[in-house]
Amino acid sequence: MVDNICAIATPYGIGAISVIRASGPEAITLVNKIFKGKDLTKVKSHTIHYGHIMDNEEEIDEVLALVYLAPKSFDGENMVEISCHGGIYVTNQVLNTLLKNGFRLAERGEFSKRAFLNHKMDLTQAESIMDIISSSNKIALKSSNASLRSQTSKLIKSFRDKILDILAKIEVNIDYPEYEDAVDVTHEYLKPIVDDLIIGMQQILKNSLITTVAIHGIKTAIIGKPNVGKSSLLNMLLDEDKAIVSSYAGTTRDIVEGTLTLGNVTLHLIDTAGIHESVDYVESIGIERSKKAMDEADLVLLVVDASKELDETDKKLLEMTKDKNRILIGNKMDLKEEISLPGMIYISAKNKEGLDALALRIEEVTKIDSIDSMNGNYLNNTRQTSLMEKAMESLNSAKNAMDLGYDISLIEIDIKNAFDYLGEITGEANPDELITALFTKFCLGK
Ligand code: GDP
Ligand code: ZN
Repeated sequence: MVDNICAIATPYGIGAISVIRASGPEAITLVNKIFKGKDLTKVKSHTIHYGHIMDNEEEIDEVLALVYLAPKSFDGENMVEISCHGGIYVTNQVLNTLLKNGFRLAERGEFSKRAFLNHKMDLTQAESIMDIISSSNKIALKSSNASLRSQTSKLIKSFRDKILDILAKIEVNIDYPEYEDAVDVTHEYLKPIVDDLIIGMQQILKNSLITTVAIHGIKTAIIGKPNVGKSSLLNMLLDEDKAIVSSYAGTTRDIVEGTLTLGNVTLHLIDTAGIHESVDYVESIGIERSKKAMDEADLVLLVVDASKELDETDKKLLEMTKDKNRILIGNKMDLKEEISLPGMIYISAKNKEGLDALALRIEEVTKIDSIDSMNGNYLNNTRQTSLMEKAMESLNSAKNAMDLGYDISLIEIDIKNAFDYLGEITGEANPDELITALFTKFCLGK
C-alpha cells in the first residue's frame, strides 16, 4: 500500500530556502491540517499558496506550498512541496511537524522509486536524474538530459521491437502451422536479422565505451619512474598541494587521488606515489603495481623527464603502456630538452605550463567530441552496457545454434533471453531487489 512520505529535498545546510517534499494519497489533506492559509484540499493542481506551517497554535514558519494532484506530479502521487526559510533548525521543525501529523520519513530515492512504479519514468530515466545531479561537465549534463528525455528508452525499445517481431513470427509458426500467410521463420530468414541486431548492439557498445567514461569521469593513472614529476603534475592539475613533492627518489608516500574537470572532461586522477619510490623500482613490485593501476585506468599519463635521456625504466614503461589510451608527457621543459618522442606533450609541472595542450590532448584521445555525432546511440553506465552485452551474448548463442542446425524452437529461447536482458535496462523485466538497490543510490528527497 502506498503511504504518506516526506523528506527535505534541498541540501542540508543554510540557504535562502529549503524545500520539503510530501507525497502520498493523503499528502494534501495532511499538509492542509498544519497549513494556515487557503484550504489546500480545494485548490487546483500545480498552484502555489502562501501561508504558515502551524504546530497546533505555534507558528513554525512562513511558507509557500506547491500542490500537485495525482497523477500529474513527479512521482505520480498527490504531492505538496513546501518552500520554507532555509535554516537548518527551521527546516527540521517543518519536517518534524509533518512527521507528527501522519507522514513518515521517505527512504533514499523513494520519490523516484514511486515515479518508476507509477510508470512516470523507466530505470534509464531514473538513472539519468542521478547523473544530472552528479554531472560535472557539459558532456555529462547533455547526455544525461537526453537520457531523461527518454533517448535511452527509445534506443532500447527499437531493439526490443525488432526482437519481439521475430518472437511473434516464431510463435505464429508454432501455434498455427497451417496459417498460409505467416512468414516461414527458417534459419535463412532469421540469420540476417540476428546478424543485424548483433552489429547494431556492437556499435552501441563501442560508442558507450566513450560516453560512459565521459559521463562518469575518466580513471586516469599518472605513471612514470621516480622523480620525473608525477606528484608535481598532480599538484598542477589539482591546483593544490595535495600530493607531496620531494626531490628524493625513494621516499614512501601514499597513493594520492583527486578529481578535476579539464575542459569537457572529468578526470579521476591517481598518482601512483608510494609505489614508485621503492629503491629497486624496476625489479621490485613497483612495476607490478603500476601495471595494476594501469590496467584499471581508462587513460594513462606517462611522465618522463624531458631533460634527460630515456633510460631502461622509461623504455619499459613505454612498452607496457603502448596499447593503452596513453598520453606521453615530457616534463621539465623549463630545463634543457633532451628527448623528443612522437606525440609528446611538453609541460613544466613546476612552472604550471602546458596545461591547455594537455587538456586538448585528453579530449582528443578520449574521443569526447565524437559524442555529438553519435545521435543518442549510446548507453549511459556500466549497468546498462553489461545488460546489453548479455543480450548480445544471447543472440550470439542463437547464431551458433543456427550454425549447428538446431531447431527454431530452441533458438527461440536465446532470442527471448536477449529480449529480457534488454528489458532489464529500462526496468520492464526487473526483479524487485534490483529496483530497491538502484533507488537507494539516490540522495534523500529525490
Ligand atoms: P615524482 O617522484 O615523479 O612524483 O616527482 P616529484 O613531483 O616529486 O618531483 C621530483 C622533483 O622534480 C622535485 O624536486 C620537483 O621540484 C622537480 N620537478 C617537478 N617538475 C618539474 C619541472 O617542471 N621542472 C623542473 N625544473 N623541476 C621539476
Ligand atoms: Zn610522486
